[in-house]
Amino acid sequence: MDLSYSDEDEEFRARLREWLGEVLPGLPPKPSADDWPARRAYDLGWQRLLYDAGYAGLHWPVEVGGRGATPTRHLIFLEETEKAGAPYVGANFVGLLHAGPTIAAEGSAGQRARWLPPVLRGEEVWCQGFSEPDAGSDLASLRTRARRDGDDYVVSGSKIWTSHAEVADWCELLVRTDAKAPRHRGITWLAMPMDAPGITVRPLRTLAGSAEFAEVFLDEVRVPVANRVGEENDGWRVTMVTLSFERGTAFVGEVVACRRVLGELAREARKNGRWDDVPLRRRLGRLNAEFRALWRLTQWNVSESERVGGVPGMGGSVFKLRYSQARQELYDTAAEVLGPEGLDLGREWTVDRLSSLSYTIAAGTSQIQRNIVAERILGLPKGR
Ligand SMILES: Cc1cc2nc3c(=O)[nH]c(=O)nc-3n(C[C@H](O)[C@H](O)[C@H](O)COP(=O)(O)OP(=O)(O)OC[C@H]3O[C@@H](n4cnc5c(N)ncnc54)[C@H](O)[C@@H]3O)c2cc1C
Repeated sequence: MDLSYSDEDEEFRARLREWLGEVLPGLPPKPSADDWPARRAYDLGWQRLLYDAGYAGLHWPVEVGGRGATPTRHLIFLEETEKAGAPYVGANFVGLLHAGPTIAAEGSAGQRARWLPPVLRGEEVWCQGFSEPDAGSDLASLRTRARRDGDDYVVSGSKIWTSHAEVADWCELLVRTDAKAPRHRGITWLAMPMDAPGITVRPLRTLAGSAEFAEVFLDEVRVPVANRVGEENDGWRVTMVTLSFERGTAFVGEVVACRRVLGELAREARKNGRWDDVPLRRRLGRLNAEFRALWRLTQWNVSESERVGGVPGMGGSVFKLRYSQARQELYDTAAEVLGPEGLDLGREWTVDRLSSLSYTIAAGTSQIQRNIVAERILGLPKGR
């Protein structure tokens, strides 16, 4: 395994840096987290700029508008955009980072042609309808049901914690299509248009004040059978692909962002005198080592997924487990550096600290990642 970058990769990095230096100063300020319609417009605008400059979907197939580059090139992209403080993927998270890659890996040619280019061009937003009130960690117990009626599935049930549901055009939706089959075998993966009749979205407010996610109620919603990705009742397998992308690669850019925050924290500590606190300085040093190690782990995961053909493996759970904890530790340290100022909700770090609490829950809790690491990587006996 070679984790170094080639000369061509370094040339790509230099061109990207130059482009970022030209466009970032002209960007409008980011709208507040309270205003998701404005955030949607902002995030899609940034995606469009990337697309026009040839930086959208670097590692996606060329026939769907991607650039067909190696995942390593995509890593360089993430590294440089985060280092430069470019906008976060935001409302495009699901479409770009896990629904899109799932459709690229599992969808038919027609499905790839329909759904992937608008994601890359910044025209359509996706959300994820997996969790239900009684099916989070135990996702296979989901109850939203779909029955066939001619060329449609008719879907009824409810979903919860659906990030960006309010502003999404499409939902990657899990439904139960065979109630009698063993739990994991009766599930189907559908692409549901969010403007279909029968969908009610009720926003939920997060601890940090943002209406980022919602409850979604589905009452006899008609979804064309043509929108099914994979076979009927084979949705669990497709879901494992989605979750591999979500845990394995979707957060990697954020590791670089965390390293940037760490540098800013050290500068702030030097300014406000907290730098003289030796235990605090040690914590900053340990976090620095931790995020460097996570970046190496990311490179290893990417190089592994390149070797096996594109879908990240179980190593994503190791990354997700450690990254989500390190992120919480980073923002706890930020609160220490800031002192009483850390309670000011006007400060980005304070809001980020509140939202960091969710990282060990979203995309599968730490306990579930530990179960996966124990059972499927280390081969330990099943706990249940
Ligand atoms: C910010 C955020 C955004 C989210 N966005 C989305 C989204 O867009 N779409 C979506 O579908 N979902 C989303 N989720 C939901 C998320 O995936 C679930 O919250 C998560 O999977 C946990 O499920 P749960 O909340 O039902 O907790 P539960 O499953 O009820 O778990 C409760 C506790 O029990 C523990 N536990 C449960 N089973 C086991 C076990 N077998 N072994 C050990 N411990 C166990 C859990 O780890 C947890 O600590 C989001 C969540 C958050 C916080």
